[in-house]
Amino acid sequence: MRSIIPAQENPTLREIAREVSVDEIKGAYIQELITDMKHLLAPEKYGVALAAPQVGDAVRLFIVSGKSLAKTKKGEPQEPIPDDQVYINPVITKMSKAKKDKHEGCLSLPGYWGEVPRALKVTIEAYDEHGKKINRGASGFLAHVFQHEVDHLEGELYVDKATNVYEETEEDQHEHD
Ligand code: ZN
Repeated sequence: MRSIIPAQENPTLREIAREVSVDEIKGAYIQELITDMKHLLAPEKYGVALAAPQVGDAVRLFIVSGKSLAKTKKGEPQEPIPDDQVYINPVITKMSKAKKDKHEGCLSLPGYWGEVPRALKVTIEAYDEHGKKINRGASGFLAHVFQHEVDHLEGELYVDKATNVYEETEEDQHEHD
């Protein structure tokens, strides 16, 4: 069984992850990886997304938890909770010039958070877990998550571009990806 490996014990976090072929998406390796990652993300109270290198697999794949997507809707929480979303070989095809500092943490760097300038809007192209091409525009929370996760596939961590990094206290626990 895989686990979320802390950064200091996980050299994969600094590798450029490889692309996955469409045939491979349907194969046992990628399907098991997705299942493991969903199981690892589900109990993380502040975890919103997880990239394959965080569990030691240097492939271009990340997932976004359905529960974090439900929480971002204004007003009542969305019911039923949407499915987790899977992004394979993701490419950010458009990015707004406008940036804003975002509060950011990472499951690979527990106990810290930082302020990171991120584009407000992005468009992403990827394959889903069935090998179907998807094209999704996002703003706010999800745009921020996409940028953090694609960075993971390039061997980058948020602390590389953060303007400030802080030790986390109980009160400032927020979403981590
Ligand atoms: Zn992260």
